[in-house]
Amino acid sequence: MSKIETDYLIAGAGAVGLAFADTLLSETDADIVIVDRHGLPGGHWNDAYPFVALHQPSAFYGVASMPLGSDRVDAGGLNDGFLELATGAEVSAYFQRVMRERLLASGRVRYYPLSELEPGTDGGSHRLRSLLSGQQTTVQVRRRLVDATYYGTTVPSTHRPAFPVADGAWLVTPNDLPQLWKQSNRLPSNFILLGAGKTAMDAGVYLLQSGAPPDRIQWVRPRDSWMLNRRGTQPLMAFLEEVIAGQALQMEALLSATDANGWFDQLEQGGQMLRLDHAVRPTMFHYATISTGEIALLQQITRVLRHGPVKAIEPEALVFADARVTVPKDSLFIDCTARAVTRRPPVPVYQPQRIVLQMTRIPQPAFSAALAAWLEAHGDNDPARNAMSIPVPLPDSVDDVPRATIVNLMNQGRWNQDPRLRAWIRACRLDGFSKLIASVDPADAAKMAALGRLRRAAEGLPTAAARWMR
Ligand SMILES: Cc1cc2nc3c(=O)[nH]c(=O)nc-3n(C[C@H](O)[C@H](O)[C@H](O)COP(=O)(O)OP(=O)(O)OC[C@H]3O[C@@H](n4cnc5c(N)ncnc54)[C@H](O)[C@@H]3O)c2cc1C
Repeated sequence: MSKIETDYLIAGAGAVGLAFADTLLSETDADIVIVDRHGLPGGHWNDAYPFVALHQPSAFYGVASMPLGSDRVDAGGLNDGFLELATGAEVSAYFQRVMRERLLASGRVRYYPLSELEPGTDGGSHRLRSLLSGQQTTVQVRRRLVDATYYGTTVPSTHRPAFPVADGAWLVTPNDLPQLWKQSNRLPSNFILLGAGKTAMDAGVYLLQSGAPPDRIQWVRPRDSWMLNRRGTQPLMAFLEEVIAGQALQMEALLSATDANGWFDQLEQGGQMLRLDHAVRPTMFHYATISTGEIALLQQITRVLRHGPVKAIEPEALVFADARVTVPKDSLFIDCTARAVTRRPPVPVYQPQRIVLQMTRIPQPAFSAALAAWLEAHGDNDPARNAMSIPVPLPDSVDDVPRATIVNLMNQGRWNQDPRLRAWIRACRLDGFSKLIASVDPADAAKMAALGRLRRAAEGLPTAAARWMR
């Protein structure tokens, strides 16, 4: 067994582990070891379906020190007029560059791919095991173990369906769709999307754009979802007034809505929230972000099955708790039921000898990880760091969302109180909006009025917190 020493051992070379490492390198002289089971950096992006893309603009995704993409505004297509969205392949290539050109090139990072951090620890001593050779390495950690695996992301190709699949049922993952015609000599008579989240939406868009007739697509949607309108995620001056008004509305609605449904209704009227079917009240919200063009396309799929989660699939039937629905022979079931994140209870981010990375701004895991590294470098002590880092509880149902929104906004309020942190956030490319807001021309009456509205709305936050956090 070999033995090495380091300041920080980071478990997980996904977006979160890399964003943390990158900012820690910038803000300290620390030595870092990174371990990951995957053979390449980027975490779940290594396993994603080929037509995946970011939900949000590339402009504020990745690590703080290296831009992703070129801030191009797309012309045409479903993202028309909005900042580019990196494809999965581009995200993976980007993280490989981050590892090679930024982290390893610093001379202060060692990377153990295809290796696993074994559970258990003896003080600051941890064990890595190579998945290829079985070779073990003991890592003596001088400062902290950084757990960048907390959300346990799963994507269709790395998960097992939670329901039995009878022999002969034709089940694929979205990863298989582009190769389907090469892999099998069969033509599906019918396409059945299983799942209500962003993966199913992406698969639906892909099928429709690739020529699948809408009337041959069925969609099993156990729950309907609210989605964020991508217009509200554009860090561009042309959108700023609208973005600020949207943020103000989120806070105002926390005071005026009497329940979570009312809060969503107000945001829908304000153009911030979208849904696929106006006749159905969504009960779920996972921060899926989408354009109105994608919504219009997906609305062509009208054969929606709302019987709850699938309990089993058979070659010619879908089995639900309360129904059995026959489907045509040669139906293709597309499994989009992987839960992207595991909802675990929030824990303190800074613990003795350990940092457990979680989102302190939702839905921005990369920004949250970079901010955690900044606080590690500059925070006075762990109680002070933790006071600035309340993990946002990940919402699942709509009822969870006001509370998550308040934790988000209150973290932001605390960060604004610290001039050094505020300056770092303003300069950080992962933040998206602070720099843009700071650059508003005071003579621009409309934008200044929107900012005034935002400030007034923020004053109501303590009242909203007292109401929703009971
Ligand atoms: C399809 C899709 C699109 C998304 N789009 C966006 C977006 O636009 N914007 C956004 O902010 N977020 C987006 N997300 C959320 C996304 O999950 C995060 O952006 C981010 O990629 C998650 O990174 P992570 O590091 O937390 O997890 P992962 O990518 O899962 O990385 C964790 C790593 O830890 C490793 N690991 C786990 N346990 C061990 C162990 N014991 N030893 C060694 N290694 C271990 C795993 O192998 C893995 O590589 C998207 C998610 C999905 C699924």
